[in-house]
Amino acid sequence: MTARMNPKWNGHFSCFDLVAKTTACSRSVVQVRDLEIGGNEFVVMAGPCAVESESQLLQTAEAVARAGAQVLRGGAYKPRSSPYAFQGLGVEGLKLLRKAREETGLAIITEVMSEEDVDLIAEYADVMQVGTRNMENYTLLEALGGCRRPVLLKRGLTATLEEFLRSAQVIAMAGNAQIILCERGIRTFETATRNTLDIAAVPVLKTVSHLPVIVDPSHAAGVRSLVPVLSRAAAVVGADGLLVEVHPSPEQALSDGNQSLNFAEFRHMMADLQPYLELQQESRQLGPQLLAAGGAD
Ligand code: PEP
Ligand code: MN
Repeated sequence: MTARMNPKWNGHFSCFDLVAKTTACSRSVVQVRDLEIGGNEFVVMAGPCAVESESQLLQTAEAVARAGAQVLRGGAYKPRSSPYAFQGLGVEGLKLLRKAREETGLAIITEVMSEEDVDLIAEYADVMQVGTRNMENYTLLEALGGCRRPVLLKRGLTATLEEFLRSAQVIAMAGNAQIILCERGIRTFETATRNTLDIAAVPVLKTVSHLPVIVDPSHAAGVRSLVPVLSRAAAVVGADGLLVEVHPSPEQALSDGNQSLNFAEFRHMMADLQPYLELQQESRQLGPQLLAAGGAD
């Protein structure tokens, strides 16, 4: 058996052994078409919260590609907290995502909400997104074990990091080791932001697990003015990339307009990131010290 770097982290390390960092496997790289997530590149996934129309998606795809994003995000099946809100275009949205990939070369990430949709969405998506509300949907997680596509697993609204890693373990045990973790803010008593970005989650996860970790500053903040600064924080603490909402006219967006950047805002954010990315190598050296300080016993 391979030695684990810290078998007693939080007292329960062994519950997620397939995704835990070991001396033999300290960093895994998830291959998405010709991209490596968790490798040396910082990968930015950007696009609208929901696919709304062909022109909205294609314009956004071109704008985010020009600004340096490598993956196009866009929900075709939307988990909305109001049953009256726009629920997504479904298969029509998936077809538009495929068209955007053909036209821009961007890889596609889109959310899968039900195990019944896994096969269909896997035909279109390069990465299958599991939203925060489904982090504990074990039937869906198990179905993703056999989908032959990488899975981006978002942290549950009230999930501890250990629970988060256990959900990743469910996907890995079901046969799919291609998992990307995504910190997207958790629910706390704070109401000034939509959620509370747990920035410490990034170095902790990267210390305890070999999986890539990305940050979604948009759902964490809930307001667009905070997205660039949270993205810079993510870069500095060692995240492997970002998932950011961008819309041609956020005021008209059918979902999450308040937190969506317009094209110019996204372009500026991308242009400003570089010096912060240069600092991230230093954060990556923090691992062993964090373990020593944070170990349960
Ligand atoms: C989304 O990415 O648009 C989304 C619904 O995210 P979350 O599951 O983090 O709320
Ligand atoms: Mn959204």
